[in-house]
Amino acid sequence: MNKREQLYEGKAKKVFKTDDENLLIVDYKDDATAFNGLKKGTIAGKGVINNKMSNLLMQKIEKEGIPTHFVKELSDRETLVKKVSIVPLEVIIRNIAAGSFSKRYGVEEGVVFEEPTIEFSYKNDELGDPLCNTYHAIALKLATADEMERIKKYAFGVNEILKEFWKGCGVTLVDFKLEFGRLADGTIVLADEISPDTCRLWDSKTGEKLDKDRFRRDLGGVEDAYAEVMKRLKENI
Ligand code: ADP
Ligand code: UDP
Repeated sequence: MNKREQLYEGKAKKVFKTDDENLLIVDYKDDATAFNGLKKGTIAGKGVINNKMSNLLMQKIEKEGIPTHFVKELSDRETLVKKVSIVPLEVIIRNIAAGSFSKRYGVEEGVVFEEPTIEFSYKNDELGDPLCNTYHAIALKLATADEMERIKKYAFGVNEILKEFWKGCGVTLVDFKLEFGRLADGTIVLADEISPDTCRLWDSKTGEKLDKDRFRRDLGGVEDAYAEVMKRLKENI
């Protein structure tokens, strides 16, 4: 599959057209950003890990009956995906309080919820990705009511699959962000990536952070943490 012109360069990935109008190539970079782009840096080898981890997890999710954009891994950093029109929502599932949830509600990090929660942010850099609820998303015409129902069902389904999988790796899935998109025929599929950039992953025994929080909070050992979760994933997939 030939890589044609670049469609988009984001903070973590580049997206290219291909000879097939329904397929794109995503190319994962080592660039890292946090706090809406205010903090910038590089995590050596991150692009390779995120590409491979995301692909393995998407294939697992697809097998469990939730459709994804994954088509084929092309190289260490490049993957062929189905082109979607992204639903401009960050869909966040949480099992344990952390990050912006802890800050917003004054809840200590690490408090375990009885049931997972879901929240949405309107993907809009100029507005700083404001929180929104299902009614807002429908009013803003970001998605229809049916699409929102499907997105919620898929997001909680992904949580059950990933929570169980990471548990077997000795890793606790704290929270994560998903993005969904529409194929040309309107089918909703899981898109973007699932990686330590987009999930909070804590060592089940020690509570050590094995994700992008090491970069956000200047904890050091960022590369090692990404390599450690990838190693555990490979041993257990
Ligand atoms: P950002 O845009 O937040 O800086 P990235 O650097 O990850 O993020 O850029 C990747 C972009 O590609 C994102 O805007 C994402 O929504 C989009 N994207 C992910 N998967 C697909 C897909 N299958 N089809 C079209 N766009 C996609
Ligand atoms: N997240 C993400 N992209 C974003 C915002 C959040 O991937 O733009 C992920 C983040 O890695 C975490 C989860 O979503 O796993 C919840 O993030 P939170 O709202 O706590 O945000 P924070 O402000 O701490 O990044």
